[in-house]
Amino acid sequence: MMHYSFSDQLEQIPPSGIRRFFDLVSASDDPDLISLSVGEPDFSTPWNIRKVAIDALEKGITGYTSNRGASECLHSISDYMATQFDCRYTPESEILITNGVSEGIDIALRALINPGDEVIIPKPSYVCYDPLSRLAGAKVLSIDTSQTGFIPTPDSIESLISDRTKVIMLSSPSNPTGTIIPKDILTKIADLAIRHNLIIFSDEIYAELDYINEFISIASLPKMKERTLVFNGFSKSFAMTGWRIGYVCGPELVIDRLLKIHQYSALCSPIMSQIAATEAAKGHQEYITEMKQSYFKRRNIFVKRMREIGFEIVNPDGAFYCFPSIRPFNLTSEEFCVRLFNKYKVAVVPGTAFGQEGEGFIRCCYSTSEPALLVALDRIEAFVKEL
Ligand code: PLP
Repeated sequence: MMHYSFSDQLEQIPPSGIRRFFDLVSASDDPDLISLSVGEPDFSTPWNIRKVAIDALEKGITGYTSNRGASECLHSISDYMATQFDCRYTPESEILITNGVSEGIDIALRALINPGDEVIIPKPSYVCYDPLSRLAGAKVLSIDTSQTGFIPTPDSIESLISDRTKVIMLSSPSNPTGTIIPKDILTKIADLAIRHNLIIFSDEIYAELDYINEFISIASLPKMKERTLVFNGFSKSFAMTGWRIGYVCGPELVIDRLLKIHQYSALCSPIMSQIAATEAAKGHQEYITEMKQSYFKRRNIFVKRMREIGFEIVNPDGAFYCFPSIRPFNLTSEEFCVRLFNKYKVAVVPGTAFGQEGEGFIRCCYSTSEPALLVALDRIEAFVKEL
């Protein structure tokens, strides 16, 4: 039998603690199942965006673009960043179009990390930050934010900084908790980054989905543009998950290095997706507002009722997630989710999917239809009454 030898880096990444749970959910084809587990808009991509891509395909526009991205797409992203977030990036040198934020984070880590460099990650965190950092050779230092309203405190970050620290990873609004890092905290984190010469990775994929108008980009703070990589994309706010398109904005010298990897590993992002993204970024914003209002309504319904049922929830001010505590029920996150799923056919994600710091919590994604959400809430209520 063939003996396979895999990368040591890869083999050292522990298997996901929730694999068993996801296998269970994805194997189910029960029509009665209500899934609050997948972090995806329940809208299709707005029609005007689909239409430009269809037109391009009909005209036979199907080739590669330049590695960095098509000029029109880079320009519309640059204008969008300036208008929406007050961040100015030169299209030809400070932006790279990637296959989603996922690729952006991967190549940025690979471009910057030398073996043993340290990456600080506030947790619970989005699932890719930790494994991609380790794959790039980094040592991961985690901050447990579960006691501080899922906001990383500047003190907790500073206590981990050493002369090997290179990157602080931030996600705001956050997946999985929906929290938004307030400006005063961002300012203090920026100050730390400047004093210790660190780079901030700012994952802003949910920036448009901010229900309290609190979001600001750390890159827009004084002296931060030169030490921040902003990761953003079209998956969430434009309902474009399947198009696989995102972008990284940052200093020219850093973006150049990312481009060096991107040109070998991805060549370019799909041309149809770039054409669609050009339209999305420059296009009409009404549909973003409509989708946002719809998520906001569902958020209010979901969070209010979950609190009435007895869950403690830190205000989820953005994205489309909430992260209720299940501590009063004396079950582990995984037990809670498996039992809820088996008995009541509602799928939510164990908090531990986002790091051990998520034990005692579950992640619920409320971007599912309102009627389904109401049924799910009834079932969750029935479930906890039995505990
Ligand atoms: N970053 C966060 C915080 C996410 O929640 C997700 C997807 O769920 C991603 C990045 C991945 O985004 P993309 O589809 O652009 O790769």
